[in-house]
Order: sequence, then structure tokens, then C-alpha cells
Amino acid sequence: MELKNRKHKLNRKLIFYFTLVIMLGIILIGIIVNLIVEKKFGQYVSYKNEQEISNIIEDIKVAYKNNDWNKKYINDIGANALNKGILIDVYDEHNDLVWSAREYNEDKCNRMLGSIKDNMKRRYNNWDSDYREDKFKITSNGNEVGYLNIGYYGNLYYLDDELDFLRDINKVITIIAIVLIIISVIISVIISNSISKPIEKVSKFTKTIEDGNYEKKIEYKSNLKEVDDLINSINNLTDTLNKQEELRKRLTTDVAHELRTPLTSVQTHLEAILDGIWEPTNDRLNSINEEVSRLVGLVNKLNSLSKFEASKENLNIKEENLSKIVENIIYNFQTQAIKKSIRIESDLDDVNINIDKDKITQLVINLISNGIRYTNEGGKINIILKDEKNCAKLCIKDNGIGIPKEDIKYIFERFYRVDKSRSKNTGGMGVGLTISKAIVKAHGGSINVNSQIGTGSEFIVIIPKK
Ligand code: ADP
Repeated sequence: MELKNRKHKLNRKLIFYFTLVIMLGIILIGIIVNLIVEKKFGQYVSYKNEQEISNIIEDIKVAYKNNDWNKKYINDIGANALNKGILIDVYDEHNDLVWSAREYNEDKCNRMLGSIKDNMKRRYNNWDSDYREDKFKITSNGNEVGYLNIGYYGNLYYLDDELDFLRDINKVITIIAIVLIIISVIISVIISNSISKPIEKVSKFTKTIEDGNYEKKIEYKSNLKEVDDLINSINNLTDTLNKQEELRKRLTTDVAHELRTPLTSVQTHLEAILDGIWEPTNDRLNSINEEVSRLVGLVNKLNSLSKFEASKENLNIKEENLSKIVENIIYNFQTQAIKKSIRIESDLDDVNINIDKDKITQLVINLISNGIRYTNEGGKINIILKDEKNCAKLCIKDNGIGIPKEDIKYIFERFYRVDKSRSKNTGGMGVGLTISKAIVKAHGGSINVNSQIGTGSEFIVIIPKK
């Protein structure tokens, strides 16, 4: 429920902001277009009206011919001018009226002027142009033959048709703006959904992870790279959590097994001795002691591992000659190797490096002892120490049994053993490599493995020179 609300919130917010921005943009563009159209149209109408006046003057001049006024012609000019909101009166040289718009059609004159005034007042509240009359002399062959009175409302006034035209333009702009706003709302809903839907999916999915469900994956492909990256990361995270969960379960059974085997053996031996079935001979007491030692060894290893993982501070760093340390360890392993007819070959650069001698000794022992343990009789172990510019590189390579591909990623985990049967032949407890990795990490280095089943394994340790 809470999840849904969150989704809606995001969705609504996105839609609101998208629409708001687009709407403001459209309204602004609409207003600007409207102002430009109005201004340009006003300029056009003013120019047209000026033209109209000069045309009337020219036409009236032509109406005086052969010392007489052509009244019919003046009538046509006057009627035409009246249709355009211009009232003319023509007088002869004696100031006698030849033709007058008001005489021609008083009603129409009032209607025209009234409608112009209404139109302009309706359009512009503060329109205050006054009706004016301009007087123009009419001359023929250089003689004044009369004059013309032109009455009109200044240069800019709109007739009904012109006002209708402006209104239509406004209507079209408004309709376009409304259509654009509707389209923008639809698009913003689509875009917002495409952002919020995958987030909702991911959010729901993480809830299932929270409930401990690590097997599932998000099967969703969005069209946004960032969201796809997020989905991939979450899928990888569930993978890791799933593996950790498996390891955790395995760890519990493995620890139980490691503890139970020696404990059961000790218990059976002691019961037999207590029941008088067995004599407490030295051999038997030694066997019990061996199992107890194994338990103590296991607990000690766990203890040192937890110490390492808890803090990296407890290293005793000093400058040491690593080649000497490795050489000594190889020397100590020779007897064990000879017993299995395993040849240890080495090529060691002289490297002086700041390390914790005891810890690094333990690391090398772990790796060489694993090499011997997991290499069959007659095998070979190659140990190379290289002095590189910023680090020391130690490779321990055997031609032993190798590690199956699917196990490689787990071998550094606590109690992980490839051979789950835990035969006593190999005898390991599955913590050697975990401790090794913790030691290398505490030194700021890395440990990696290349291995192929049946061919052998190579462990590569890098220790930086700090
Ligand atoms: P163990 O005490 O069982 O040897 P480690 O942590 O040292 O535990 O090693 C974990 C597992 O990795 C081992 O059980 C073994 O299966 C595998 N392994 C380690 N080293 C080698 C190697 N050199 N060759 C083959 N397998 C190895």
C-alpha cells in the first residue's frame, strides 16, 4: 500500500512538472504569437487606411471634369468610402455642398461610426481615438475648384470583417494551444509511467529480497539505460546473496560435521574405557589426544580467521627478505614432498618487502601444503617469486588434481572443500585458503587462482611494496 502511494507520488509529481513546464511554454508562445499577429495586423490596417484616404482624394480630383462635378462618380466614391468607415463631404468653390455622406445615408453613417467605436472599445478598453475631419483642397488646372472633408477615426480602427479575422486567428491559436496541452499531458503521462513503472518493479522486488527470497530475478527490460543498470545490479546482488546464503547453510553443516567427527570418536573411546571394555592404554589415550588436538586446531584456526577479518591493524609489519622466508618453507616441506615423490622447483628473486613475517609464512605454508596435498605421487610444484616494480609476485603452481570450474569461486570461503566427502587422505578443514586470503587482504594485496581439473592449479599472490 505504502509502495503504491510512493509510486503515485512520483508519477503525479512527474506528470505535474512535465505538464506545468509544457503548459507555461505553450501559453507563453501563444501570447507572443498573438501579440505579434495583432501588431503586424494593426500596422497593415493603418497602412491600408492611409492608402484609402489618399485614393479617395485622388479619385475626387478626377470627379471634377469640364468645369463640373460628376455627381454619380462622387456618389460611388462616397458610398464605397462609407463602407470602409470614412465619411466624405465634397464642396464646390462657392462652399456649396456637392455631395455629403450624411445626406446620402445618415443612418448608415451613424451605424458605421457606431460599430467602429464599439469594435474598438470592445477590443481595447482604453481606446480613446476621436472622430476627426481633415480638409483637402481640390484643384483643377491649377485653380481651386472646391474642397473635400474626410471624417474618420484616425488611422487604426477595425471594421467588422477585420475584427472577425483577428478573432478567428485568436481562436486558432487557442485551439492549437489546447490541443498541444492535451498532447503534452498524454506524453508526460507516458514518460512518467516509463520512469516510475520500472522503479515500482524494482521497489517491489527488493521487498521480496528483504523477505529472504534470493532465487528470483527481475525480468523487466525498460527503455532507460540507468534503470536497466539498476535492475542488473539488483539481479547481481540477489545472485551474491543467494550464494552467501548457500555458503552460510553449508558452513553450519560443515562446522557441525568438523566438530562432531572428532567429538564422537573421543566420546566412544572414553565410554569404552569407562565401561571397562578398553584398557586405557597409551595408544588409545594418544588417539583421543589426537582428536582433541584436531578440535583445538580447528578452533584456533577459526579464532585467527575471525581476528583477521575483524581488524587489519594487528599486523606486525617489518622489512623482511621474502625470498629467504619462502626458501626456508620449501626446505621444511622437502621431507613431506619426497614422501609423495613430489618435486619442488623454485626460482626466487631477492625481494625485500614490508610484511608481517609470521602471517606471510603461514600463507606460503598453506599454499605449498595444499599443493602437496592435492598433487598425486610423482607430481611437481613450481614456486616463482618475482620482484616487480611496485609489488612482489609469488606463484605456486602444481600439476595436481585441479579444481572444478564451478568450485573456483568458492574455495576462499570458510570451510569450503571441493571434496565434500572429506576423506581423511587430504585431511583439510577448508579454512586454509580463507585465512590465506585474509592475510593477503590485510597486506593490501590480492590472491587469485587459475586451475583446470586434471591439469593442476596455480595460486598467484601479489603483495604491494608500501
Ligand atoms: P583445505 O584445508 O580443505 O585444503 P583450503 O581452504 O586450503 O582448505 O582449500 C579449500 C579447497 O580448495 C580444498 O578443499 C581443495 O578442494 C581446494 N584446493 C586448494 N588448493 C588446491 C590445489 N592446489 N589443488 C587442488 N585443489 C585445491
